[in-house]
Amino acid sequence: MDAAPVTSLDLGRRTAATVAPSNLSGLTRPELAAALVESGAVASDKAKMRAAQLWRWIHHHGVTDFAAMSNVSKDMQATLSERFTLVRPQIVERQVSRDGTRKWLIRFAPGIEAETVYIPDVGRSGALCVSSQVGCTLNCTFCHTGTQALVRNLTAAEIVAQVQVARDDLEEWPSPKEERRLSNIVFMGMGEPLYNLDGVAGAIDIISDGEGIAISRRRITVSTSGVVPELKPLGDRTQAMLAISLHATHDALRDQLVPLNRKYPLKQLMAGVRAYPGLSNARRATFEYIMLKGVNDSPAEARALVKLIDGIPAKINLIPFNPWPGSPYHCSDGATIEAFAAILNCAGYASPIRTPRGRDILAACGQLKSESEKLRASARRVPELAE
Ligand code: SAH
Ligand code: SF4
Repeated sequence: MDAAPVTSLDLGRRTAATVAPSNLSGLTRPELAAALVESGAVASDKAKMRAAQLWRWIHHHGVTDFAAMSNVSKDMQATLSERFTLVRPQIVERQVSRDGTRKWLIRFAPGIEAETVYIPDVGRSGALCVSSQVGCTLNCTFCHTGTQALVRNLTAAEIVAQVQVARDDLEEWPSPKEERRLSNIVFMGMGEPLYNLDGVAGAIDIISDGEGIAISRRRITVSTSGVVPELKPLGDRTQAMLAISLHATHDALRDQLVPLNRKYPLKQLMAGVRAYPGLSNARRATFEYIMLKGVNDSPAEARALVKLIDGIPAKINLIPFNPWPGSPYHCSDGATIEAFAAILNCAGYASPIRTPRGRDILAACGQLKSESEKLRASARRVPELAE
């Protein structure tokens, strides 16, 4: 692993300790209209129009202050700011990798922290990896998040706030139509998104709205370890792109790596993927396959993988294993990964190896959150090494 120096600084910009319940910036359109009426700030016959006006300020312009809403009367601005806020959650830590990857540790409430990672040059121009839960109930044996207990689901507002924080930091307001730095969203941070479908679907409704952040549903990918009964609801409710954390081609091994497989074995999982709403050659599912030395990386397994997904419009993503302290696995060596990829290439799957990004700031897949906590703890113990 790379131990290069990194830039790390605290950001104090537009923050508060919590996202208060009266915060309007993470509500869906109907919730926003309802909140305005319930508070008495807006009459019900004006609610839809007023909500549309505020929506544009909040999600297209990214404002965090009612006073910036220049086409809203001063009186209305004052009424709104008495009853509501637009404040962002607190950024506990911000790091920038040598390769341009940015990572934020965000505190939504005391003890409720999650990490969000921006990766440049992924997707159309850059992808944001968002968390859907704090911790995870599933215990995949290769994943550091899996060693942490679930704290709780993040709300739709808290998921949207991760996008807003990234947009603030990338200075990407108002929401540009072309030339965006943040073009794609992947639910590959902490947590299992399909155990928080309400939060994820609500967030996708907000993020994909064309009058706001406007990231198209086709550029939003939800990654799951395989919660089969939620696949169809995910597709129906979000029309998001699907990624499956496969990692093994037979049940005996997948039972060990992804214990959820004991509940939803491969046969059920593959049937669920085949039935995913909207799957086509233009909207392929992604199969993620982590490369674990001597565990799942043989040529025979590459061939088994091709066979397993035969007929499914699919891409394959080989993820070099990102080690963490005490992890029971090693990453396959380069030649083994190349050989595995060559078999997939021959079968028609182009460039399947994912380049690890942000390793110097522990921003890579499966390393989120707990490492930051560990580093912060050691920084407190040894202040002279904190930089
Ligand atoms: N819970 C969901 C989404 C979050 S994990 C899921 O499991 O799909 C996002 C991706 O990171 C998954 O494909 C997961 O298998 C992968 N991952 C977890 N730990 C990893 C590690 N140490 N190295 C590389 N990838 C890892
Ligand atoms: Fe949870 Fe995904 Fe990690 Fe498995 S890989 S423990 S499902 S976050």
